[in-house]
Amino acid sequence: MPGCVFVPTMGALHEGHAALIRKGAELARHRGRACIVSIFVNPTQFNERSDFERYPKTLEADVALCREAGAEAVFAPSVEVMYPDERSAPVPVLPRVAVEPGLEDRFRPGHFAGVCQVVLRLFRLVRPAAAVFGEKDWQQLRVVAAMTREQGLPIEIIGHETIRDPDGLAMSSRNRFLSAVEREAALAIPRALHAARRARTATEAETAMAGVLSGVDVEYAVVRDAQTLANVGNGPARALIAARVGRTRLIDNAAWSP
Ligand code: AMP
Repeated sequence: MPGCVFVPTMGALHEGHAALIRKGAELARHRGRACIVSIFVNPTQFNERSDFERYPKTLEADVALCREAGAEAVFAPSVEVMYPDERSAPVPVLPRVAVEPGLEDRFRPGHFAGVCQVVLRLFRLVRPAAAVFGEKDWQQLRVVAAMTREQGLPIEIIGHETIRDPDGLAMSSRNRFLSAVEREAALAIPRALHAARRARTATEAETAMAGVLSGVDVEYAVVRDAQTLANVGNGPARALIAARVGRTRLIDNAAWSP
């Protein structure tokens, strides 16, 4: 639907997704256009087959949530529609922010190739004027914005702040896998981001985060330049965390300033 406002998701929708859809629907209304949500669990962006296979699928409830949040249509394609052949769904040249920071690119090799492939394919099928992505996946937001620019696509990439549960945990389709004990342990992640805020330097912030995260299996807990995700410079910065709690991998981030 050319000119629409687009919200791509993998389904198992929660209030975080609903907020993105509400924003998309509002923008669409102002422009006299439709808000379209896609639901597609993209096999090419998963590193572990088991993670892909156990990804929750709740299509009926998802469609109801989309309707309530103001979407005009849901696009839920099959793998065959998305990936008929290699020419229809090429992996674009990856932007630097997808391969250099040593964050998701390091711990989930191949992940951003899959993300760029599916987003490019979706953009070509849906032809939106704008697309809304969550800040919860900060590196992904930066990667999609860079790829869209580098591919010369006339699509505005809009970020939406992270929606959290009342206890501070960022909402995620994967939170449903956490036991009560694991959920309590996972709260170290938002607490670490909070602790980082009181630090005067990026190094101090990283030390503070490591201290709070001692009980979980940390992949990274760093402060980086918010745009490039390279080492902090003079511009805005972001604190970013990835950690495993039991079998569940969680990510979160927050704006950081000295
Ligand atoms: P996913 O279905 O996990 O691929 O997420 C689809 C979109 O929703 C992505 O742009 C995510 O960044 C965004 N999203 C997921 N969780 C949240 C959240 N808690 N707050 C805001 N956006 C989110």
